[in-house]
Amino acid sequence: MRKDEGAATTSAELRAHNLARLLRAVHDGGGQLTRAELTRQLSLARGTATVLVRDLAGRQLIEELSSPAGGPDGIKVPRTRGRPTGVPSAHPRGPVALAVDLRDDSFTVAAFELTGRCTVLERHEREAASGTGMLADVAARLKARRRQFGDRVVGIGVAVPSPLSAGQMVQPTLPDWQDVDVAGVLGGGAGGNRERDDGGGDGANAGRRGNDGLVLAGNDATLAGLAEARRGVLRGVSVALHLHVATGIGGVLLAGGLPVTGAHGAAGEFGHMPLTGGSEPCRCGSVGCWELDAGARGLLRAVVQPEEGDRMVRAEQVIAAAGTDANCGQALARAAEALGRGIGALVNAQDPEAVGLSGLAAEVYEAAPAEVRAGYLATLMRFRRPDPPPLLPSTLGDLGALTGASELVFDAFLTPRGLGAWPASEEKTA
Ligand SMILES: [Zn+2]
Repeated sequence: MRKDEGAATTSAELRAHNLARLLRAVHDGGGQLTRAELTRQLSLARGTATVLVRDLAGRQLIEELSSPAGGPDGIKVPRTRGRPTGVPSAHPRGPVALAVDLRDDSFTVAAFELTGRCTVLERHEREAASGTGMLADVAARLKARRRQFGDRVVGIGVAVPSPLSAGQMVQPTLPDWQDVDVAGVLGGGAGGNRERDDGGGDGANAGRRGNDGLVLAGNDATLAGLAEARRGVLRGVSVALHLHVATGIGGVLLAGGLPVTGAHGAAGEFGHMPLTGGSEPCRCGSVGCWELDAGARGLLRAVVQPEEGDRMVRAEQVIAAAGTDANCGQALARAAEALGRGIGALVNAQDPEAVGLSGLAAEVYEAAPAEVRAGYLATLMRFRRPDPPPLLPSTLGDLGALTGASELVFDAFLTPRGLGAWPASEEKTA
């Protein structure tokens, strides 16, 4: 526990603590809760809440509207004049989290405001010949967005397509990303042994405060799960398992909305467990890995296709053709059953209340729910079968990992220390 999150002993500390709690509640509520609802939720006195809201509004952290932004009418509504039914919302010059979803063949840069709304989304195909060149392209796009938002940017979250151990990419698919410290590279450092920043590092991610501010990195599947716990189908679930299937299978166990990421941050590599009984060697160094049967490779293995083109796209083509092409139908059925079997084994191990599915896992489940369920029930222990944890396909789509990356940034910002660094309004540039 950081010292500024311990017991607040002075009135200034108590006030800073309450400001952070209130702003956190505005963030978690997505800007949909009225001041009266927030006051009740946080058990604040009405007068205290009024003072805190005024303080946050004065610092351009929130703006109070008379109804939730992005409501049914979708138009900007005028400010309230201090009525308790006002809705604390994102300030038009308030904090912004930049987020990057890094893939082998493309990257996406996004901006999120305090209430979790995505205001910028730009996707770029990979142009650089090398992985290192691609990181330089990402840095250039981030620089442009930093110019646009000025010191409204409170940090950058990066979702990476590789396991991270102690902040470094280990066993990435692009060879020149091996052992690269992405947060260090994008934070303006050389990616070497920069001092660890504990402003946001809780084991779930690797954080660096370089020349260009706070940069936090996390595994993409872990961040997809974090996003579901905060904004998606796993919201409010006490213990949740999330599985993200792309070429491989990653995921995360979340307890009380917090990712359990292991001693080095590299937990959740569920795809590299021998859950379906095969014995084929895997790229990871193990044998019989689950992802060989239930990931994109599993879908493609069963159909005769040349090994070229984007694997995810080809896997999606197999799913789409399953209704008309017998081979594709069989491949889908097999991968769906393998997916279900692995989920059953993981539920036996982890005892979650619900299981979130994103990427190909959601697509396979929606295309072949009976096969997934058959595999799932076959491997579940008998006592669990009458009431198995529900399988919940993600509704966040491509925003999942980006949303999770932005949550890393807001987790670091929405603390007394984070807010203490928020610049005074007259210094704002954008
Ligand atoms: Zn493996």
